[in-house]
Amino acid sequence: MIARNITHIQQEAGQKVQLVIVSKFRTIAEIREAYETGHRVFAENKVQALLERAEQLPNDIEWHLIGHLQTNKVKYIAPFIHTIQSADSLKLLQEINKQAEKNNRVINCLLQIYIASEDTKFGLTFDEALEILTPTVLETLPNIKITGLMGMATNTNDMYQVEREFKSLKTFFDTVVITHELPYFKNLSMGMSSDYMLAIACGSNMIRVGSRVFEG
Ligand SMILES: *Cc1c(COP(=O)(O)O)cnc(C)c1O
Repeated sequence: MIARNITHIQQEAGQKVQLVIVSKFRTIAEIREAYETGHRVFAENKVQALLERAEQLPNDIEWHLIGHLQTNKVKYIAPFIHTIQSADSLKLLQEINKQAEKNNRVINCLLQIYIASEDTKFGLTFDEALEILTPTVLETLPNIKITGLMGMATNTNDMYQVEREFKSLKTFFDTVVITHELPYFKNLSMGMSSDYMLAIACGSNMIRVGSRVFEG
């Protein structure tokens, strides 16, 4: 069933969209079943779970972190994390840079942008992101590649609202691409099980899907 779901989602999403399988709450056996299909990009939202899973699963998995990251926990994931999608402050980026340097690595980060009209979600405003995306600031972060943006829409059934939020992030993403010279800035991560087709229609090229892979 998991293999069939992954094939189905990939067919729907198309070749150009990167599927990130969200494995939070799933058993190691379930994740392994997804891995056996050849898929290698997985995400967790908590550091502790990520560490436990990474230890038990093959090390060619490209792990992404998609949940809020406290600065004091960066050191635990710095040796192996592929992409931190939830980079939401300069202070956090500075710590990621420091720990990446200690491990002789470069860590990919997406700036998490606040697009929802809920106060439970983390993220930067457009202006705060622009303050980070200046040459002066980026020069101080040589062990980080800013590979794009991540956003989460409001948890609502109002698809027009979700669409507006996705479109606002896509517009901001395009503006950054046009006005900044950022060689690695390519990923726009938006869309989850309930809304990935809408997100793709709005310009997403990276979707984070959990339930539709393991339950759908
Ligand atoms: C859990 C989670 C997802 C996936 O949610 P599903 O509805 O299970 O697809 C995507 N993004 C983030 C940030 C999440 O925490």
